[in-house]
This record gives sequence, structure tokens and C-alpha cells, in this order.
Amino acid sequence: MENNQNGISRRSFLRGAAAGTAGVAIAGMLGACASTQTAAPAFTGVPETWDKEADVVVVGSGTALTGALKAQSQGMSVLVLEALGLVGGTTALSGGAVWIPCNSYAQDSKEAARIYMTKVADGLSTPEIIDAYIEHGSEMIDFLTETAGIKWALADRTDYHVQWEGGTRKVRTLKPLDENGQLSSLGAGYTKPEADTLVKLGGEIMVKTTAERLIARPLADGRQEVIGVVANSEGKTLNIKAKKAVLLGAGGFDYNDEMKARYLPIPSPCSFAVSSSDGKGILMAQAVGADLHLMPYGWGQVAYSVIGKQAYEKRVIDINICPLCYQNDSSSMWINRHGRRFCDEASDYDSFWYGFGGGRDTTGDMAYTNIPAWYVCDQGNRDRIGAGGAGAVATPDAPGKLWGVEPDAEPPEWVYKADTLEELAAKIGINAENFVEQVARFNKYAAEGKDPEFHRGESLFDQGGPGRPADCLEPMNKPPYYAAEIVPFVQGTKGGPRTNEKGQVMHVNGDIVPRLYACGNMAGMGGPGKYYPGAGGTVGPGMVFSYLAAVDMTNLESWE
Ligand SMILES: Cc1cc2nc3c(=O)[nH]c(=O)nc-3n(C[C@H](O)[C@H](O)[C@H](O)COP(=O)(O)OP(=O)(O)OC[C@H]3O[C@@H](n4cnc5c(N)ncnc54)[C@H](O)[C@@H]3O)c2cc1C
Repeated sequence: MENNQNGISRRSFLRGAAAGTAGVAIAGMLGACASTQTAAPAFTGVPETWDKEADVVVVGSGTALTGALKAQSQGMSVLVLEALGLVGGTTALSGGAVWIPCNSYAQDSKEAARIYMTKVADGLSTPEIIDAYIEHGSEMIDFLTETAGIKWALADRTDYHVQWEGGTRKVRTLKPLDENGQLSSLGAGYTKPEADTLVKLGGEIMVKTTAERLIARPLADGRQEVIGVVANSEGKTLNIKAKKAVLLGAGGFDYNDEMKARYLPIPSPCSFAVSSSDGKGILMAQAVGADLHLMPYGWGQVAYSVIGKQAYEKRVIDINICPLCYQNDSSSMWINRHGRRFCDEASDYDSFWYGFGGGRDTTGDMAYTNIPAWYVCDQGNRDRIGAGGAGAVATPDAPGKLWGVEPDAEPPEWVYKADTLEELAAKIGINAENFVEQVARFNKYAAEGKDPEFHRGESLFDQGGPGRPADCLEPMNKPPYYAAEIVPFVQGTKGGPRTNEKGQVMHVNGDIVPRLYACGNMAGMGGPGKYYPGAGGTVGPGMVFSYLAAVDMTNLESWE
């Protein structure tokens, strides 16, 4: 059991972020949370008085900060509105990874990147968006180095679909360096210098200020152009003029139960987003005619059901809710209520989501075939994780301890324990005959070192790097046996107003919504498109297209 070649486990993504867990909890709780879809009609016309003004008004301080800084550095005045009391949103609390194809830190090929990204998009992005990402991603990174002094280095990450043509390892994921020159595992490694530099250059950030709706005025051609924002700043209503443009970067709709029920095909009872991600930005864009894109998609993940739902109710981000079934986590599997496996448990977390969601039983009450499912393992798995090196990280906050406890301690109350497989199946109410047969088959695969059903351990991603033995498969045969209910969820939603390669919001009529831009998880952008390209694949597009939005704004004249 070992790390990948450079000694960096894939799980350092989570371990690093764990350092910020306390901050995550605080940020999560600070957010005012609307849990239902609420209408956000645009204010149409020009208000008699304005309370504040800037060339560019930016809503949200996550990935949108990159665009805010670019706009300010190009001579436009910028005002950022942030609903929470802290700057940086989920982005600041992220693991710091930014996926940038063809960056200046590694050898890459535009053609390979284009082929890979086109497959990742799966028809749900455009060649123009993919090309803009490839052409300008590196420029965005270099801009942040020159303007905000952020230094970057390659992280040892494998593209999540590395087996696809054009996939790479240790080429496209960058992380900021901390003051000691070490890879930083917090997004604050770039959001903080971005915010500090923005303010130093004359930009303004208003915290505890929530944008409620857009202000738009009718154009002769029947469209509306966006000229400002109505915001609530600690109870005070402000009309804020945006002389050139508004950039929306208000996160997804993770905490809007009605939108989730309406748009997500797979229930998502947990989230990894700050609780101010209530869909308001999306509704604001819809109110001025924005088209919608990628609404049924999210950045997939899997959680232990009980603690995942508890974290959601408390509105905190707790990365320990995730079972990650790879590397040393090898005599374990995910089982549905029929007692069957249903996916490669060692693949990336976004792919899990599709594996989980796939299908419903076509008899009876049309229940989801794999929801809920069960993480099951034997004592051997707990021992192996406990004895393992840095790669054996089962619980990010407690390396080496599955479920946060020593291998010989009693598991938490939400974990079932039994001396036999039959007894375990009875306790959790799954088909015992199928389960026993499934474990026997899995053990045969483990003995042979090959999983012909789900190919667990075959891809470079599953193995955590080249040259490692495919140790994702060990026989599950040392009692007692354990089971914990698991559910899929989206770390963040992907859908929102459709945006183009300039970050402009598209109207339902196919034209743009004048002076309105969007970025990040609310921008209907995805990776771009459907799947998750690799570590850093959510903030990468968010930062690149918020940067490109600011570049495009230089072409705008003030509307008044
Ligand atoms: C522990 C963890 C680790 C992660 N690691 C990575 C990683 O390494 N790489 C990666 O690519 N992704 C990672 N992710 C996912 C990533 O953090 C998010 O997908 C990304 O930050 C979303 O960016 P955003 O700009 O859309 O939203 P946010 O960063 O959440 O920014 C949106 C901001 O808008 C504010 N807001 C919302 N509504 C309003 C309103 N009406 N008015 C004013 N402000 C408003 C919010 O308060 C928030 O600050 C991680 C997530 C977690 C939880």
C-alpha cells in the first residue's frame, strides 16, 4: 500500500481541505438560506435614485473574484456584493485545485486537450467554449501571478477520465503555493490575494450584502439590458447602478429544495456548497429572459446517509461524510438492496453519481435501483486502513481511521456490524442470497486481481498513479462485517443561465442578455459540459470564464 509516485495521495485533496473544516462550518452557517424557489422579478426601468454605482457590479465572491480583479485591473471600477460575512464562498474553502489545460507549467497539446474536453462535454458545450478555455486558461493563471502575486505549481493529479483519448496525469491540475513554497490545499490560497489586490487597486467588496434582483431597462428591439442590482445590505435596500455590466457568480441551487426537486434527476440530500447557494442568482437571470442549461447535472459525490443529511440540515460542509472506496479501501464494496454491486467504486466521485442514479426498478413502486445503497466492508479493511501509510486515509480528519475510529473500536451508531454476511444482510434488509453470492464473486476477482464486471482498479485513476499495483481489490473475508447506508449527492449544482465563450448570459431567443455575464456553478457551464474533467474542474471553468467576461466588458460603453 503506497502513495502514487510523487508521494501525494489523491486523498490529499480532502486532507488538505480538512484544515479548513472549522472555517467551512462557520461559513456554512452564516448564510441566509432560502429553501424554496422564490420569484425574483427584475425591476424594469431606471430608478429615480441610486445608492451606489460602479462600472461593474459582481454578485458573489467565489470564482467571480477573478473577473472582478481583471475588470478592476483594466481600469473599470468594481463593486463586489457578497451575501455572507466572509469573502471567497465555497471557492475559498475548496482544495485549491484549478484544472487548466495547456498551462505553462507542463507539456500539453491543444489537440489532445480538445479531444479530451469534447468527450468530457458529451455534446453539452460548444467548440467555441472549449477553445476559449484552452486558449485563455493559461493567460488567466499568468494574469493572477502578475497582478496578485499568486505562484502556482502542478499538483500530481490524474484526469478523472484519463483512459479517454487526450487524458493526462500531472499536467492540467495547478494549485497555488503558500508562503513556504508548498502546494496549498485551500482555495483561499488564491481568493485571498485576489480580494486583497482588488481592494488595493480601488475595488470595493460589500459583505453581508445580498443581491435580490436585477434592474433592467427595455431596449427598442424588445430585449432588456441590465443596468443594476437591487441589494439588501444588512436590512437596508440599495439600488446599485452598474454602468457597464453585472457579473453573476452567486453559486448553484444546492440549498433551494424546490429547484432541486424540479431539476435534479437524482435526489441530492447533501451538499458541499456554502448555504447561501440558494439559486437566487439563477432566478435573477431567468427574470430577464435567460435560457437555462445543464439544470439536471451536478458535480457528483457520495455520502454516508446519516451524517451527510445531518451536515446538510446544519448547513455545514463536512468532508468526512464521504466514503471513498479506493486505494487501501480495498475489501469493501457498494451494494444495492438487491445485494448487487453497481459501479466501479474506485472511480472518481463524479462518475459514482451516474452509477448511482442509473435506473429504477420497473416493477412495484419504481424505486431507484441503487438508492439507498450500502458501503460494506470486513474487519480486514479496517485493519488495512489502520496499518497503512499516507495512502490509507479513510476519514480525512482522522487519517488511518475508518469512520474516525481506531480499527478495533466500536464503529459509530450509524454503522451496522455482524459476524456473518447473512446476518449483516438481515440487519440492513437486503437480499442475503444475492449478497453472499456477490461477495464470493468479488473475492474471486480479488484473488485473480481483475474485476471483469466493473473494472475496479484497472484505470490509472483507480490506481492513483502509474506503477502502483492495482491494490483496489482484496478479498472480503475477515469478520466481523460492517455496513453503512450511502446516498449520492451533488457537491454543487451545475445548471443555470446558459453562457457563451465570453461569459455572456444567453437569452431564450438565442441572443445575449445585454450587459449580463455569469460564472461558476450557476453559469450552466459545467466542466465545460457534462462530466468532471479532473481535479480543479469546477473552479477552473469558473475562473477562466469570469476572467473572459471581464475581458469582454472592456468593449462596452457606459449605458448612460
Ligand atoms: C471541501 C471542498 C473542496 C473542494 N475542492 C475543490 C478543488 O480543489 N477544485 C475544484 O475545482 N473544486 C473544488 N470544490 C468545489 C468548488 O469549491 C465549487 O464548485 C466552487 O467553489 C463553486 O464556485 P462558485 O463561484 O460557483 O461558488 P462560490 O465559491 O460558493 O461563490 C458564490 C458566492 O456567492 C455568494 N452569494 C450567493 N448568493 C448571493 C447573492 N444573492 N448576493 C450576493 N452574494 C451571493 C455566496 O455567498 C458565495 O460566496 C471543493 C468543494 C469543497 C466543499
